[in-house]
Amino acid sequence: MKEKKIGVYPGSFDPITNGHLDIIKRASKLFDEVIVLVAYNSSKTNNRFSVKERVEMINDAIKDMNNVRCDSYDGLTINFAKMNNAKFLIRGLRVVSDFDYEWSLAASNEFIDHEIEMVFLMAKKENTFISSSNIIELASMGVDVSKLVPSKVNEYLISMNKNK
Ligand code: ADP
Repeated sequence: MKEKKIGVYPGSFDPITNGHLDIIKRASKLFDEVIVLVAYNSSKTNNRFSVKERVEMINDAIKDMNNVRCDSYDGLTINFAKMNNAKFLIRGLRVVSDFDYEWSLAASNEFIDHEIEMVFLMAKKENTFISSSNIIELASMGVDVSKLVPSKVNEYLISMNKNK
């Protein structure tokens, strides 16, 4: 039997945006299964949303995609990939500055495990300005970001502003 092609899309997703979602949709056409991974480091606590909240927002956004699931992992993404028989790591590229970071990440991953393949998808041009931090900043200043994020995220942002 042919081996299932499984791709892991790791990130902070703090929170997930329509830019991330576009990468997930496109990856779901390339792979048999895509695992969106909220990768975190429990010793770093500078996140805006908890892992549980981030997973909840992702699960709501991917609920209609039948070959996509979400998980979270505290540790090396490569270890998670191995445990899940995934040979591919998916990342998105927006602007040239992303390239520097992704380059060193890819080199580190190759150092750890040269069998893992990194797959980069270019952001759609209308999504290049969307980042989780940009969304938080705009939303906290009262800008309507409903066209830039999945509906559950928008709900979270609205209640975050109300509770300020
Ligand atoms: P990390 O902290 O690991 O960079 P992010 O959640 O910020 O986590 O991003 C996860 C991945 O998604 C990264 O490869 C990033 O470049 C990509 N990404 C983020 N925003 C977008 C976007 N608007 N369009 C396409 N890819 C994106």
